[in-house]
Amino acid sequence: MKAGAWARAAWNTGSEIEQKTGLLMFDTDRCTECGACLTQCPSVQYSTEKAIAEIRELKQFGQADILSACITCMACNESCPTGARPFDRISMLQEQHGIRLVSGSRADMIETQLNSVPKHIVVGGDSRLPALSLCVMEQALPQNMAVSALFKGLTIVSGSPYYSRVVHLHTGMPSLTREHAARFIENLADLGRKEIVFAHDDCYVMAAVLAPGYGIDVPFMAVHLADWLCRALAEKGTEVKLLGKRIAFQRPCITRLAPWTDRCVDTVFRLTGVERAARTYDGMNALCCGIGLMEKYPERSRELVQKNIADALKHGAEAMVFGCPSCYAFMSGPCMEAGLAPIFISDLARMALGEIPFEPRPHIRRDIA
Ligand code: SF4
Ligand code: SF4
Repeated sequence: MKAGAWARAAWNTGSEIEQKTGLLMFDTDRCTECGACLTQCPSVQYSTEKAIAEIRELKQFGQADILSACITCMACNESCPTGARPFDRISMLQEQHGIRLVSGSRADMIETQLNSVPKHIVVGGDSRLPALSLCVMEQALPQNMAVSALFKGLTIVSGSPYYSRVVHLHTGMPSLTREHAARFIENLADLGRKEIVFAHDDCYVMAAVLAPGYGIDVPFMAVHLADWLCRALAEKGTEVKLLGKRIAFQRPCITRLAPWTDRCVDTVFRLTGVERAARTYDGMNALCCGIGLMEKYPERSRELVQKNIADALKHGAEAMVFGCPSCYAFMSGPCMEAGLAPIFISDLARMALGEIPFEPRPHIRRDIA
């Protein structure tokens, strides 16, 4: 089943209240109360008995302890063996009970910032090629990211109209994510492209998974950045020089909702001649970068950053590749301090093409124009 069809089928099984406020929805019929989702949660150390009790509380729409302990990493959706999506219920109940990882003033500031990035379109040379969306993340991405043979001829779009607001799955306000979904898809559809490549995983997941799940027609194919890089590198053939490095990957939490994208990352690593460091906090055991905790729980946020960096170094990585612009901007400084080179995934591909040297490529702070 295609991702969109799967998501739509999932949506149709949701309760009415979840259809109004939720992410997709917790499928209680699928939940066998095994407790695996919460015994594997990186934020708590629950026994199987406690995990089952929590799940039963969630099923009753109760104020389970996990609502306050949850760091919104979404790992439980991926670890559930039946695909019941427990995070969707957790997220919905966080909103219902006003449990948020960020203060009201910070949530307001995030919304204001997201709404104030000017729309910008640079029309590419070939209208048959996709558009590349940088959404509101242009300042968090590597400078001149798209000035590369990898994106030659693509139309480049950025600004508030092209941002999905998936961030609110982390702020405890998933209804805002849903509220903006239709407009987000319309704005992208107006570009008239068959395919849209997303530089931000959040927006990819909205277009490929969530919007179809909400019943919104998506008239273009959503392409994950790593998927596009695979295509572009494959076309370059012998121009690609294998880097011969061992590098760690910082998996973005949102890809728990689109786990197939992690295989695209594997392919980018293979095509660039990079060994993906077999570290503890990767794949199913990936650990959030901690950016969402920075305001209310700065110690926990720092701990997550340090755990990820120490883990990468322990497993012999000389660099950390990022697929999410927020993780990249947030962790670049600490990575540099620890001697671990931060590299955004598109820059890794550029290095293999010889466009830029293999060296640390940290996020450079710059003002929003
Ligand atoms: S949501 Fe999934 S993992 Fe969690 S208890 Fe239910 S079936 Fe088990
Ligand atoms: S989203 Fe992450 S932190 Fe929250 S309950 Fe699920 S696994 Fe635990």
